[in-house]
Amino acid sequence: MSTGKIIVITAPSGSGKTTLVKRLLEACPHLEFSISACTRKPRNGEVHSKDYYFFEEEEFKRLIAEDAFVEWEMVYAGKYYGTLKSELQRIWDAGKSPLVDIDVQGALAVMDKYKAICHTIFIEAPSMEELRKRLINRGTETPQSLEERINKAEHELAFAPRFDTVLVNDDLEKATAELIAVVTRFTGC
Ligand code: 5GP
Repeated sequence: MSTGKIIVITAPSGSGKTTLVKRLLEACPHLEFSISACTRKPRNGEVHSKDYYFFEEEEFKRLIAEDAFVEWEMVYAGKYYGTLKSELQRIWDAGKSPLVDIDVQGALAVMDKYKAICHTIFIEAPSMEELRKRLINRGTETPQSLEERINKAEHELAFAPRFDTVLVNDDLEKATAELIAVVTRFTGC
């Protein structure tokens, strides 16, 4: 079984991660987005095998029993998410490096298993006030879910020192350039 390298990106919602990941993938054709498995329902416009591998809970649990996951987690009550071993292998077989976009707990698990071949990146918003402002401006949160996301971000921030690279996204152009430089240095392409 051949393995290449792995890039892991973790960031709280509102940190600008989606834009940075999109730009990174455009700039680095040797990277391929690792599609996670999950049991939540697809949102409008989401496509199976593109955004996620959407599974029923029973199927997901069968995959857990078969040891098909590098890591899996119940990210929200009753909703499972996980990185399939077969997904990483699919990308390595294509001669590319997977870009794994998961939360802190998932990132720590990937780090544990693949220490020698993975580079982990934590993207920080410039401050909690800025994060709050971005989430409010996005207009997608209720007051309760806003607080939940801020609390999760505060909790996750404590793990930032365990990542290989911590990037502060206070200037999108600068953060994009830094991200591409870090990844290029690690993957050698
Ligand atoms: P969403 O449902 O909004 O797409 O994602 C919810 C959360 O699940 C995000 O924090 C995302 O990072 C996390 N997530 C997505 N895929 C995985 C995965 O494969 N493993 C883990 N541990 N978390 C994931």
